[in-house]
Amino acid sequence: MAINLDITEAPTRETRLGSITGYSGTLKDLVARTGCGASIKNGDRTFSQASSCSSGCAQTLLAGIVDAAVVNHAPIGCAGDTVYHNIANQYGRFYREWGNKNIQLVNTNMEEQDTVFGGTEKLREGIREAFRRFAPKAIFVTTSCASGIIGDDIKGVISELTDEVPVPVIQVSCEGFRSKVWASGFDAAFHAILTGIVKPPVRKRPELVNMVNFRGSARAYIARLFGELGLVPRFVVPFATVEELATVSEAAVTATVCTTLGSYFGTALEENYGVPYVKAIPPHGVAGIEAWLRGIGAAVGKESEVEALIDKERAATDADLAELRRRFKGKRAVLGMGPSYAQSYLGVLEELGIEVLHAASWHYDPRYDYGEQPPAIVRAASRENDITFSVGDQQLYEITNTLSRLKPDLYFSRHPGSSVWAAKLGITAVPVIDEYTAFGHRGLVNFGWRIVDALTNRNFVTKLADRVKLPYSGWWYGQDPYAFLDQEAV
Ligand code: SF4
Repeated sequence: MAINLDITEAPTRETRLGSITGYSGTLKDLVARTGCGASIKNGDRTFSQASSCSSGCAQTLLAGIVDAAVVNHAPIGCAGDTVYHNIANQYGRFYREWGNKNIQLVNTNMEEQDTVFGGTEKLREGIREAFRRFAPKAIFVTTSCASGIIGDDIKGVISELTDEVPVPVIQVSCEGFRSKVWASGFDAAFHAILTGIVKPPVRKRPELVNMVNFRGSARAYIARLFGELGLVPRFVVPFATVEELATVSEAAVTATVCTTLGSYFGTALEENYGVPYVKAIPPHGVAGIEAWLRGIGAAVGKESEVEALIDKERAATDADLAELRRRFKGKRAVLGMGPSYAQSYLGVLEELGIEVLHAASWHYDPRYDYGEQPPAIVRAASRENDITFSVGDQQLYEITNTLSRLKPDLYFSRHPGSSVWAAKLGITAVPVIDEYTAFGHRGLVNFGWRIVDALTNRNFVTKLADRVKLPYSGWWYGQDPYAFLDQEAV
């Protein structure tokens, strides 16, 4: 089995998958170098501007479980992302018309003396306080660089409190220093759920689909599509209950909107409970949704129903797509996203008739846990034209240099902290924050019209570029964008 649920920690992506955060070359070269199980050496940077941390990825999932609590055993600074997680939580609650409620998270506020004398007493108090304050059905203890480096005995504290805190208390190993790939934090969270919450199936639910996603804004759309196939989605992990997560093993199939997010969980459920995982390209754009629906249909024996549904969806959007392609003729773009979206959006933009000049991926997994290369990048590399491709943990100095050289009409990014730099350069920036942007035939059309709006209302980026002075000197713009990246010769 690829995923070992008998160990307490999910190995990092670098260890399990050979994932990298440093590369500059071309799309076809990267895919060729990592085909047939081959690995690629990571390119180290001699300068790093800023990045993110895997504990944030773990906590954004776990703090979204509606009746669980998170104890972040860390200095208070490590909980800085909590503000964003709470905003994302409110966004998801708004879509569900649930009313306002904050995430349930406490931080143990490790200080200097705790790193000398140990922080276990603060952890004990943190777990007690989370149980007293929230009465959760489960508690996840997320680790940090500080608690990991000093080796606090987290398991010992959890074990001591077994009688006093009568709900599952599960360690989540997501110290930032363990991995340069922040998506390792997703795997740490899923590993904790798989080992501490998920139970063997009591009965099988042939209609149930585990839908692995973030906020789930397209719930109604997916419920309609699945309803036509006699299926019912259960959105995990955020906004699910502990009880719902305990029974994911009973589902007929697991699908995901983001293959970076879903592959560890999906593969583990397939290997351990026989729940098939849909290994298609992500469901963005026409090719994406059709491959994805066919994957679900094949898993549940509904192939002909899927074909009928695809015909209907295509017929409803073909005319809009033709008009959008006409409007985007000659438009050129750069994109910078996490790997699943960077790969998937190469297809989305091609379907809209927008030429991609360069794609930047925030990391790259040469293969997924089930042993194959990501299907979306294999598909993108099979096209005749090659493009330049870079891998970097959102090093914005590289992105800004790349954008200033290529001068695209559009910049697409999943992260507003990245797209703002394109806007400052006067480039039309379209953030793709919602994971269901361009989901399916209808979503692709809606996304296309949003791009039309952005291109025809350039007042903001033009005025911003006129007034903002960027921090980079002419010297930097004269350098290769990847001058600080040490890598094998391409
Ligand atoms: S866990 Fe480490 S890398 Fe992450 S926020 Fe805390 S100190 Fe920074």
